[in-house]
Amino acid sequence: MKKIAVLGSTGSIGTQTLEIVRTNKDIQVTALAAGSNIELLEAQIREFSPKLAAVWDEEKAAELKSRVRDLDVHVFSGMDGLLAVAAEPEAEILVTAIVGMIGILPTIEAIKAGKDIALANKETLVTAGHIIMPLARENHVSILPVDSEHSAIFQSLQGGQEKALHKILLTASGGPFRGKKREELADIRVEDALKHPNWTMGRKITIDSSTMVNKGLEVIEAKWLFGVSVDRIQVVVQPQSIIHSMVEYEDGAVIAQLGTPDMKLPIQYALYYPERRYLPGDRLDFSTLSQITFEQPDMETFYGLKLAYRAGREGGTLPTVFNAANERAVALFLDRKIGYLQIPEIIQECMEAHVNILCPDVETILKTEQETYEFIKNRW
Ligand code: NDP
Repeated sequence: MKKIAVLGSTGSIGTQTLEIVRTNKDIQVTALAAGSNIELLEAQIREFSPKLAAVWDEEKAAELKSRVRDLDVHVFSGMDGLLAVAAEPEAEILVTAIVGMIGILPTIEAIKAGKDIALANKETLVTAGHIIMPLARENHVSILPVDSEHSAIFQSLQGGQEKALHKILLTASGGPFRGKKREELADIRVEDALKHPNWTMGRKITIDSSTMVNKGLEVIEAKWLFGVSVDRIQVVVQPQSIIHSMVEYEDGAVIAQLGTPDMKLPIQYALYYPERRYLPGDRLDFSTLSQITFEQPDMETFYGLKLAYRAGREGGTLPTVFNAANERAVALFLDRKIGYLQIPEIIQECMEAHVNILCPDVETILKTEQETYEFIKNRW
């Protein structure tokens, strides 16, 4: 019986993780955490019987506690709750499916407790990859990618050929506005940006996909996961989202992972690695698949991607500024307080105003996040 804990169990990745648990009968859920959705968390607790649950919101945690008083489950709140879930003694793997930099401290806690990490929460590596990766090596724990592109790269690297890796070809769908120029994006509404052509995901990441900021975050995430400089990571637009990413080896051979767009595959692969299991769902049908096409990303229109390369190249606290500025800008856009084109503008302005600090510790990273939020609050 494999034992797992899930941070962010009520979200898009969290619920799909629990679907995997539901269809495979040999995974036990020992702990679950969510932000405030106690209705769904209660249902999950009743179905999966974890020993421990955490809700970020203190009042909601108290309400949940009272709702599940008939069950043998301990309910915690706030950061203490997340840390308790992360280090729950019986779990072997922590699935980090929480959104935002709030994932850093629980991930560190889990690594120190010797848990393997099935990592969906990209913000953790983007902002603190220089802390997380060495810590994982030191504690002999694996960081197993859940993001579909990183899982594809990871799968393409099986066979121990990492030394011969020449470059990473990170694929992107190009999002709903592929092919449009900047002036055509001025009037984009929230509902337009929330329509991803191929993937169904949480709201924030769907907006990030439309601006290509998500691809930028993935470039930085790949840098840390696979130990390559961002200049050896090439973004390739592949609009049908059939190739989930590729690697090119020193001899010119390119190995890719293909499949239908379904996050359950990378989640299941991370949970059972190195074993492959049957996964119900659609399969690629090469008798009907008419084409796979490729384009270069338009980094002038979608310059959030260019800013990410800069942040990834310079490192330090700049990726934190990139991430925090984007997070706030997306929230402002979703609240209809700013226009679509202001998202990259805000990121750029925050990055330009920032004095980079190299090799930051967690405290400095979290302080930089707060300072970026303040900077935005005072201007927009
Ligand atoms: P969602 O917004 O769908 O879910 C976020 C989850 O985190 C929810 O369970 C939410 O709880 C929980 N959460 C938010 N804040 C807190 C907090 N302070 N304390 C505890 N729990 C909290 O996000 P996604 O599932 O889309 O994404 C999660 C992560 O995975 C992100 O980093 C994203 O970039 C990455 N990712 C997502 C992919 C996808 O297909 N969705 C693909 C690849 C990576 P509540 O519901 O109560 O608010």
